[in-house]
Amino acid sequence: MFCPFCRHAETKVIDSRLVAEGNQVRRRRECASCGERYTTFEAAELTMPRVIKSNGSRQPFDEDKLRSGLVRALEKRPVDAEETDALVARIVHRLRATGERELATGVVGETVMEELRQLDDVAYVRFASVYRSFQDISEFSLEIDRLNRGKRRDKSLSKSKGKRDSK
Ligand SMILES: [Zn+2]
Repeated sequence: MFCPFCRHAETKVIDSRLVAEGNQVRRRRECASCGERYTTFEAAELTMPRVIKSNGSRQPFDEDKLRSGLVRALEKRPVDAEETDALVARIVHRLRATGERELATGVVGETVMEELRQLDDVAYVRFASVYRSFQDISEFSLEIDRLNRGKRRDKSLSKSKGKRDSK
């Protein structure tokens, strides 16, 4: 980087150490031109992308809101607090790993639903119903049908076919 005093392009690192429990590197630099010394800090950028709402406004990602939504969806399901924490961590990690500074709310929602679906079908449908704010019950039923079809397909892999529409 340029010297903040004289804008000279060459600086020499005269000291380098880990700070903030190893999460940052602190470097003492000396300008090759004016000789001034200054300090820089380097850290991994782990800020969460901001969320672009459907009306175009931007909001900071709200982990608490995500968690409370998931807890509501997982109510009375056989998923304990530890698994819920791990779920939140997975979602946050995936969103962060996109490396994007802003993400459409739809991307966030789909990520949440994908992770939830792998954990618990019922919670997934609950969340999806709220998230997609289904207008009527038929859409909700469609989603449940889709889940059941998926289940049946899984079963038909291990059993013989042909009984699918027998009831
Ligand atoms: Zn300088």
